[in-house]
Amino acid sequence: MLNPALEHIETYKVEGGQEAEVKLNQNENPFDLPGWLKEKILDQFRQEPWNRYPDILPYRGMAAYASFLGVQPESVIMSNGSNEMLYTIFMACLGAGRKVLIPEPSFSLYDKLARLQQAEVVDAPMRDDLSFDVEAIIEVAGREQVDFIVLSTPNNPTSKSLSHSEIERIVEAADAIVLVDEAYVEFSREQSALDLIDRYPNLVVLRTMSKALALAGMRIGFAIANPALLAEISKPKIPFASSRLAEITLLEVLENYSLVTDAVKYILGERERIEAELAGIPGIHAFESDTNFIIIRVANASGVFKKLKEAGVLVRNVSGYPLMENCLRFNVGLREENDRLLELLKSL
Ligand code: PMP
Repeated sequence: MLNPALEHIETYKVEGGQEAEVKLNQNENPFDLPGWLKEKILDQFRQEPWNRYPDILPYRGMAAYASFLGVQPESVIMSNGSNEMLYTIFMACLGAGRKVLIPEPSFSLYDKLARLQQAEVVDAPMRDDLSFDVEAIIEVAGREQVDFIVLSTPNNPTSKSLSHSEIERIVEAADAIVLVDEAYVEFSREQSALDLIDRYPNLVVLRTMSKALALAGMRIGFAIANPALLAEISKPKIPFASSRLAEITLLEVLENYSLVTDAVKYILGERERIEAELAGIPGIHAFESDTNFIIIRVANASGVFKKLKEAGVLVRNVSGYPLMENCLRFNVGLREENDRLLELLKSL
């Protein structure tokens, strides 16, 4: 017999597909690695034995990332995309009879994983302007005695963030493991929660190389926590989940980090320009962004989505999320891609 939890979850899919002339629907970085760096990575990968298992965990890559972050190596674990680490941590923290707090709307995988673990999901909804309601989070976490709290900050799909002091208040008040998913932190005005891991043994920070670091195709993510907690939450982890290629790529991208800072600077510049342009288009409300993507509210989101798609521009219709009626999400692309989107929005 199948796990009865499957009745309440669906196969993950990307609404609207993954192909388009102008692809702005998955919060990706528009800059691929330059050819010379790909060649350098591939040269190293050619020398590796492909018939042998890699290390159980990519220790060299993890040590390099720890030193890049300024934390001890025992505080870092690498995964096959941060998605793999989400599966691992949800398995470690949840099960039948346990409770998780997920402020909605948030990344859809959280709710799915919680239900797969047969956990009870409780909500502390965002405010109407899509910002976090910190008081509600603390109040609900205490009243419901949750075991686990999941915060995506900056949050997908709202693009709103908690401040460093708000995160600290939640972590301090909570009698629960708190997961802070920082997938978009490099684009944020707010400070990372990383410095809190030494003080709070219940805090886990999640990072990915899929967004600012432009490696969505390489599948690299990390969890960072104090070593005792990290050792426990990593127990369910898939062994050998990161390939030799992922580890080499990580090491090389850290060595050439100016590529990342340049891309982030470009994306933030374009974000500001797009926001200014959107403010002048009647019938569109743009929510202020703290990420590499922007949320707009229009009169008829599915109509606009369809017209954009017909014109070769793929965005995400996020209208199905609570509080996000008639909202569309698109990531910042290359200047000419952004111009094409803006022209279409003006003409619609
Ligand atoms: N967390 C958040 C908030 C995300 O938006 C995403 C990607 N959409 C992920 C985690 C997963 O990213 P990856 O598995 O590529 O690291």
